[in-house]
Amino acid sequence: MPEFELIMKSIQSLVDIAASGKIHAKHLDLLRAQVSDAQQRHAQAEALVHELQSKCLALEQSLEQCQLKLKRFANDNPFGHRCDHCGGVDLRLTGQQPAQTGAEFGLRDGIYLCRVCQHTSVHAMPPPG
Ligand SMILES: [Zn+2]
Repeated sequence: MPEFELIMKSIQSLVDIAASGKIHAKHLDLLRAQVSDAQQRHAQAEALVHELQSKCLALEQSLEQCQLKLKRFANDNPFGHRCDHCGGVDLRLTGQQPAQTGAEFGLRDGIYLCRVCQHTSVHAMPPPG
């Protein structure tokens, strides 16, 4: 009888181990699925980072171009005149002439070339002094 109980205990122990193994296998499957999901999300995040880096680089280049344009604008058209033809502000002072009104007071007109439409506009220069 004790031998039979010992055998039954051993069988029960083997059944417990087998059941435990199935549970571990299920946990392992769940972990594999979670790892796969995490790897997929990581790849998506890396792609997003790459895309954002590209956009950031493009924006930095655009900003640099805007800064150059602004600097040129500040140097070439400091009074913010607008082209008489297209309304653009990307003008360059190419010459001066006595003002149509007020020349007797030393007033002068500036002749501006528009970089957008290539036409010239005449705008009053600020009074000297
Ligand atoms: Zn123009």
